[in-house]
Amino acid sequence: MNAYFTVDVEHDCPPYLTTWRGIEEGMPRLLAMLDEEQVHATCFTTGDLARRYPETVRAIVDAGHELGCHGDTHRSFAEMTLPESEAEIRVASDTLRAFAPVVSFRAPYLRFPAKYVALLGRHQYALDSSEGRHKKLLASVHRDHGVLRVPASVTSSTLRWPAFARHALFSRLSDPVVLFVHPWEFVDLTREPLRFDCRFKTGDEALECARAALRFFKARGATFRRMRDCAAA
Ligand SMILES: [Zn+2]
Repeated sequence: MNAYFTVDVEHDCPPYLTTWRGIEEGMPRLLAMLDEEQVHATCFTTGDLARRYPETVRAIVDAGHELGCHGDTHRSFAEMTLPESEAEIRVASDTLRAFAPVVSFRAPYLRFPAKYVALLGRHQYALDSSEGRHKKLLASVHRDHGVLRVPASVTSSTLRWPAFARHALFSRLSDPVVLFVHPWEFVDLTREPLRFDCRFKTGDEALECARAALRFFKARGATFRRMRDCAAA
């Protein structure tokens, strides 16, 4: 089984918060855990973040993780015109490619109108992971405008479900398994005025849940790869 652990590297819990605690406090914990578990992740990063926290982007690249693109400002592409969308992708790509080659993309909020997929090919992207099986049940791996589209398998908060419930869900996932998390989940946001699914079990518990998810799939023979390896295969 092929598995991919992905991280949407952005400010805290968009669109509700504008702080960066996830980057300052959560990301170092996550990178240490991935190092301990010897897993290379794909980090879909906003251009905005890369300009504010270049040292975080360097830490991602230096640890051998793949640097991907998560838009520039974390605005939803569903609310942008074609020229605005193209500018968003161009600015983010220019910023991120100063750190490493970037060929994988995920839109904020997993919302990316199909008519914009051609933009990704035009900007040298090989893979898009903007669809989610939890949003569109029939989403499957397919090629569109030369871009391999690989949907996320589950939404991030399911990794924080009680073990019996998340294991039941994980057992039903088909190959390839694409998990995703956010750095802000590894900061205690349980007292913030957020939707329940954004804040429950955030902090240390979320980190242990992410570790348990990696071990669950490894124990079943899964190999975690970077998403660009999927596009190259
Ligand atoms: Zn995001």
